[in-house]
Amino acid sequence: MSSKRPRFAFFRRARFRLTLYYTAIQLLFLIALGVFLYIRNDRSMVIELEKFIKDDAHDLMLNVYGHPNDWAATQRRLDYESRGERYYELSYRLYDPTGKLMASSRTFREKRADGQNLIGPISEDTLHDALEGEAIEDFVHLPGRPSRHLLITRPTADPATGETRYVVQALAYLEPLDKLSRRYRHNILSAIPVFVLISWFGGYALARKVLKPVFQIARTARQITSARLNERLARSNSGDEFDMLAVTLNDMIHRLEESFALLRQFAADAAHELRTPLTIMKGEAEIALRSNTDDPEAYRGVLESSIRECDHMIGIITNLLFLSQADTGDVAIDRQPFRLDELLAEIVETFQILAEEAQIALEGDDFPEVTIQGDRCRLHELFANLVDNAVKYTPANGRVAITCEVDAQEVHVTIADTGIGIPEDQQEKIFERFYRVDRSRSRETGGYGLGLSIARWIANAHGGRITVHSAPGAGSTFTVGLPLLAAAAGADGADSPSRTSNGMARSA
Ligand code: ADP
Repeated sequence: MSSKRPRFAFFRRARFRLTLYYTAIQLLFLIALGVFLYIRNDRSMVIELEKFIKDDAHDLMLNVYGHPNDWAATQRRLDYESRGERYYELSYRLYDPTGKLMASSRTFREKRADGQNLIGPISEDTLHDALEGEAIEDFVHLPGRPSRHLLITRPTADPATGETRYVVQALAYLEPLDKLSRRYRHNILSAIPVFVLISWFGGYALARKVLKPVFQIARTARQITSARLNERLARSNSGDEFDMLAVTLNDMIHRLEESFALLRQFAADAAHELRTPLTIMKGEAEIALRSNTDDPEAYRGVLESSIRECDHMIGIITNLLFLSQADTGDVAIDRQPFRLDELLAEIVETFQILAEEAQIALEGDDFPEVTIQGDRCRLHELFANLVDNAVKYTPANGRVAITCEVDAQEVHVTIADTGIGIPEDQQEKIFERFYRVDRSRSRETGGYGLGLSIARWIANAHGGRITVHSAPGAGSTFTVGLPLLAAAAGADGADSPSRTSNGMARSA
């Protein structure tokens, strides 16, 4: 595990990216707010102006209706309303219902260089709509004038008769409003760089603060090596995501610590198991050399013992190899349908001679006819292992019985003996690697303490399980449950149930 701090380009760091996203979001927000306020402001100012023009036009028309047919007075009044000192440049003109221009002021009278009016006469449509009672509002651009004009056309009714006698048009030059809007736009635009800078530094400080626990976790994690797996990451106990991350990583380190401890133990156990036969071989060879005897039988005895010890070591290594391949998922399970009852009968027949030699009654016949999907070879190994143990650990005049029961989903095979039994607290441990209840006795019987680990792995790889019930002195009953249909678990042998159920453990 490298303790070197990994280096990332600045722009690839989470801190940089968080700051960038933060600033971009703030900027988008500012622009959206700016545009919204700009439009709202503009609209509000136009509405206010409209209200003003409406009142102004109303006063104007009261005057017009108050002096019927006095067009000189009307003109004076129009000129008065359009006088220059107003904030907005306002102009008016009046049409009668036939579209005849009755009076006009200021901009409406202005001429262009070619002698044409600056603004054309009212269109027929507008006049028609206005006479229908509609107030029409329009924005127009006039040549030589940079800002917009607001043109409002309204029908006006004679207060005496209620009859629409004139259509009044008011034209307001919106230069002051546009000037305000321009200033507003300029203010917003010049605030953006300042705002971006503030956002960037604020965001950077925020990201730094938020990511601080990650730096702490990374710093501690860098210091944790296989030799220092007892260390844990510091928790903030805040219950936030980083605290959760620290808890998850601590759990992982804990599991790693356990696995490393088991591996070390396993290596020590394996070395110990192999050292015993080697020590015996070396000792016997040294004695034979020192004795200087000419008796070939003595040397023969040493060689025979060496071969026995070599067989023992080969047995251990073969089983270890199997288990390590099982751990890495390299043991293939070749599933084929086969008759389990026939396999059990075969086992009984094979072990009959061994049982007879040990003066043990091996019972097992009349198995119900049952076909299962599985690896016959591996299952043979499993049952042979259990029956071998039962015979090994049952004293003379004892009994070993094999039975088989089938239910709707499973087949249960039990191997019950009247042997020495297993103490309650060790019944789960016997499935661990190199675990033996009585090591000295096991060596006499030639056991390595790996048989049950392998048996459980095979059962699990078939989607089944092995359980044991035992009482010291009264005997043991091992039950193997196997599914009738091919189970998914470990179907390809790649899954390694042994990793969870056959934990490597210390020898007794
Ligand atoms: P071994 O090769 O030593 O038999 P196993 O993995 O097959 O290794 O068994 C582990 C240990 O479980 C044995 O050493 C023994 O102490 C105990 N054991 C297994 N089967 C029996 C049994 N039928 N009766 C009593 N003890 C048993």
